[in-house]
Amino acid sequence: MQDEPIDREVILKELEEIHKLDYDYADGRILGSMCTEAHPFAKEVYCKFLDTNLGDPGLFKGTKHIEEEVVKSIGNLLSLDNAYGNIVTGGTEANIMAIRAARNHARKYKGIVDGEIIISEAAHFSFKKAADMLNLRIVEAKLDDDYKMDVESLKDSISDKTVAIVAIAGTTELGLIDPIDEISKIAHENNIYFHVDAAFGGFSIPFLKEIGFDLPVFDFSLEGVCSITVDPHKMGLAPIPAGGIIFRKEEYLQVMAVDSPYLTVKTQSTIVGTRLGAASAATYAILKYFGKQGYAKMAKEMMNNTRYLKEGLEDIGYELVREPELNLLAFNHPKIEAHELAEKLDELGWKVSVAKCPVAIRIVLMNHIKKSHLKELLEDLKEIY
Ligand SMILES: *Cc1c(COP(=O)(O)O)cnc(C)c1O
Repeated sequence: MQDEPIDREVILKELEEIHKLDYDYADGRILGSMCTEAHPFAKEVYCKFLDTNLGDPGLFKGTKHIEEEVVKSIGNLLSLDNAYGNIVTGGTEANIMAIRAARNHARKYKGIVDGEIIISEAAHFSFKKAADMLNLRIVEAKLDDDYKMDVESLKDSISDKTVAIVAIAGTTELGLIDPIDEISKIAHENNIYFHVDAAFGGFSIPFLKEIGFDLPVFDFSLEGVCSITVDPHKMGLAPIPAGGIIFRKEEYLQVMAVDSPYLTVKTQSTIVGTRLGAASAATYAILKYFGKQGYAKMAKEMMNNTRYLKEGLEDIGYELVREPELNLLAFNHPKIEAHELAEKLDELGWKVSVAKCPVAIRIVLMNHIKKSHLKELLEDLKEIY
């Protein structure tokens, strides 16, 4: 740090220059991200809550109320009347909280000390962090031929050390929904905590179902489901960092509670201590501003774009890994290897990502990608072909 203060105009100019190195969603070239530009209204509200601290809720009763209302609204969307939980930094923190609740619950009520969690090969890497931090062993259930959790393999993976089973509604790589109703039954019969990671799909599946899309049930209407992760900062158009962890029962928060002596409340269950209330307020605002209709309209538009891209790709001769279930698709060139193709696309300015299982170009059709961008992309892909 320099000794003398610097004029704010100079600092702003410097920051703007550096900021130019970042890609801009509005250019429609970011094709592999599950995040998108937040809605302007949500950003406006966010800025009004920049000094709030939900880590000390006795001082911020209003903002705490807002967080509780957002949790209830999202719970409601997921067929739960009285939801408990928090708005956290993202899917990763939400998943860590769910696994921590499961571990503590199993430790308290079943005496399990060296616990295991069962995830599928398609699970998000955040569960590796959770297992590492919480000292749990990961048991990986196989995927079936359709890249979803294989139910028989799940059954084989259960042991007397299992503290949680995790299924996914909208996998990070392919956007697929695991057979959650079957998994819920298995978890319930075996009295095992069941967490659904709907970080990506949680803000689209409920709305799509309501307007007639044939998608499976994945929420709290299934009795085995104990918690669900939903990210407002992905399909919810809330500003980063906004993740949601929704619990069916308050006891899952209670088993994580530690004493917080110098604060206005006696215990704290979140991982983070001091935490900003702005994401809660912004999510509150955007949920009201859009309503179910607004989200349904957006989700449908993205599904239309997904179909447009799928048909365009097939017309040229590219091969889809699988029929897309949500607004995410993966494809390959019959001869060019995916990483090589991704490089060619990168040279043309397209920021795609490569899925690992199976290896394929992966495109997430978020709100910032318009049909005009897809048209240009298809032209470039035709040229490459
Ligand atoms: C994005 C995602 C996560 C991680 O969320 P972050 O907000 O990046 O922490 C977890 N699970 C799934 C299924 C995801 O798509």
